[in-house]
Amino acid sequence: MASKQNFGAVVITGASSGIGEASAIYLDKLGYQVFAGVRRDADGEQLRRKTSVRLTPLLLDVRDEASIIAAANTVSAALNTVGLAGLVNNAGIVVAGPLEFLPVAELRKQLEVNVIGQIAVTQAFLPLLRKAQGRVINIGSDNGKVSVPFLGPYCASKFAMEALTDALRMELQPWGIEVSIIEPGTVTTPIWDKSITLADDIWNKLPPQAHKLYSAAVDATRNTANKLGKNGFPAEVVALAVAHALTAKKPKTRYVVGLDAQINIWLAKILPDRLLDKLIIQYLGLPKNP
Ligand code: NDP
Repeated sequence: MASKQNFGAVVITGASSGIGEASAIYLDKLGYQVFAGVRRDADGEQLRRKTSVRLTPLLLDVRDEASIIAAANTVSAALNTVGLAGLVNNAGIVVAGPLEFLPVAELRKQLEVNVIGQIAVTQAFLPLLRKAQGRVINIGSDNGKVSVPFLGPYCASKFAMEALTDALRMELQPWGIEVSIIEPGTVTTPIWDKSITLADDIWNKLPPQAHKLYSAAVDATRNTANKLGKNGFPAEVVALAVAHALTAKKPKTRYVVGLDAQINIWLAKILPDRLLDKLIIQYLGLPKNP
């Protein structure tokens, strides 16, 4: 078990499950005062049962400006004059579907949660981060470097986080505020089942023409996602990278977590686009002639 020291306070968004929950538990064990972002009281209570009394659940919906401001005020009041050692922008959803028919409102929702929300939260907590020369850790994905069919909205959100992380890192450099992005591969968390449910909801509302054109490809992608989600690595591995980004004297700008992410990102770098397309299409088992 990790040794306990007082590392200061961190805010983690989306701590009800998966990577956010694992990070909250691990950072609590390390000795951080964790403010764990959740959207339901019950999730906060459940998390508290797994941690020390230092952990404070924080109601925080990254799509809701009032909720973000209230959360920042709560943390500010709790810390009094002390600043924030870290902000982990982890909350995320997966919106999937064929771009030809995907309702634009769904694309908007994807970007609001995974992109706009992260920056809105960062803005709200930066005054507290400045006080302690704290750090920002964004949870990206290898899908921020490799886009795949039917996951266009999600990949767009993670590509956007790559760009925003780079810009923010350079903007905050004068004040020694470090900004890192974590790029995990496949992690076994509830996001996979949730994304399939959401994708099915969207799919079922698409017009018959969409079904006629894309059924076989969407089915193949769903099957692959189903298998992948069950065979990923544990969220605790990502928590280790989060802890490194928070504690290392010189944190990495990017943390590629998992062999699959390393391979995917490397292939995207070295392969010509059309060859990479071919590999991805083959891997997903997409039909040549739908
Ligand atoms: P989970 O579904 O387990 O966790 C997602 C978290 O985000 C939940 O706590 C969820 O809360 C929260 N969330 C969703 N919408 C909002 C919102 N509007 N406001 C605040 N919180 C919200 O998935 P993961 O742990 O897998 O995902 C965490 C991050 O890791 C995401 O950014 C994801 O893209 C990224 N990632 C995941 C990978 C994987 O394979 N699992 C791989 C690479 C990156 P609630 O329970 O209330 O919905």
